[in-house]
Amino acid sequence: MTTGLLKLNLSDDELAGVLSHEVIHGVRQHVDADFVEIAKLEKALQEYATHLERHGNDQSETAQMRENYEYNRLHQQLEKAYSYSRQRSAFSHAQESEADSMGLKLAIAAGYQANGLMSALQKLAAHQVALYGEKSLLGSKTHPPLPKRIERLNQIQTQSGY
Ligand SMILES: [Zn+2]
Repeated sequence: MTTGLLKLNLSDDELAGVLSHEVIHGVRQHVDADFVEIAKLEKALQEYATHLERHGNDQSETAQMRENYEYNRLHQQLEKAYSYSRQRSAFSHAQESEADSMGLKLAIAAGYQANGLMSALQKLAAHQVALYGEKSLLGSKTHPPLPKRIERLNQIQTQSGY
């Protein structure tokens, strides 16, 4: 949920649509694999640093060298993971589509109008165009272009007869 969205005075149905989309990201565990990898490496490095700090000096020179080598290796891996993850989006477009279509069903199951998310995205699109022009609809790093998502949500609704 972004502050930009909150400023759009969304109705309950629209808000439910947006939140359902986010809930699906959560329950379907749409977490970036890079993100998990980075968290693992950061933890391993942290543990290594603590270990070296405590026991670094009571070990043989070979053991120290081996541990320093291992520490540097982990560090390089982490740098690589950082730069890789900067180049790709937080969620894949397939995950976005799933969050849109399953989110729509979730909102309906919770007793909200089917077109909540679509309507919220239409408001958002209009708002973006007003502020930044048509170019702002080309899609962000994290989500496919708004007009594409709106069109697809419209299709899902028509197909499922909501
Ligand atoms: Zn999303």
